[in-house]
Amino acid sequence: MSLEKADALVIRQVDFSESSRVITFFSREFGKFAALAKGAKRLKGPFDAALDLLSACRVVFIRKSSGTLNLLTEARLISRFQPQSSGAKGGLSSLYGGYYVAELLNGLTEEFDPAPEVYDLAVSTLSALSSSQTNSASVIIHFEVSLLQLVGLLPNLFECSVCGEPVETGSQFAHWVSQGGLLCGACRREEYAGVSVSTGAIEILRQLAQESPEKIHTIEINNKQAQECHRLAVSAITHALGRRPSTLRYIQI
Ligand SMILES: [Zn+2]
Repeated sequence: MSLEKADALVIRQVDFSESSRVITFFSREFGKFAALAKGAKRLKGPFDAALDLLSACRVVFIRKSSGTLNLLTEARLISRFQPQSSGAKGGLSSLYGGYYVAELLNGLTEEFDPAPEVYDLAVSTLSALSSSQTNSASVIIHFEVSLLQLVGLLPNLFECSVCGEPVETGSQFAHWVSQGGLLCGACRREEYAGVSVSTGAIEILRQLAQESPEKIHTIEINNKQAQECHRLAVSAITHALGRRPSTLRYIQI
């Protein structure tokens, strides 16, 4: 048992009792962890509005030995997630984008597995979704691709995973979902159930995987490429989760 401090995003809230909730955080210092927030459901509770979904806060908690719920003792709001308010459509897509970010963080990471790059990615993605300057579809695809890369689930985008044939413009490649790789035309087999992906989209995926969310407006993506990139990312995510993300139906690319 030890007292710990962390900068953390609220990624899930589950009611625990009349007045308490179990909050799942994704923190810079410890990665994902859940903690019991006593009194969190009371109007004038001890944590005020710090525990709203997707808020960033500075928390103090008692870390228990495994199998016992950690206990939240303090939470101070750093910043609230404020989805775009310009136009109903922009506002909703950035709000749902935020929910999707929370679901992927929860589903694709392990408890107490520190990943500060993932935390920074999530914070900058939420900030980009809050800005009226950004296109939320690009921000979402960038998040999917970057998260997959950071957790080691992004396919090798440079060569065929069977024969090593390099990906070159105009060649035919497919995404081999179950093996998390790309397949060239010669290695493609019906039983691998690969989905074709254009070399243009592969090039975009490579660029997205290297860029920060603030810079993605410099990458030109047409609708077809955006859909291809999103489809590939969703296949990899769905394979890793064992199901389609439930917030995915609200995401329009
Ligand atoms: Zn090959």
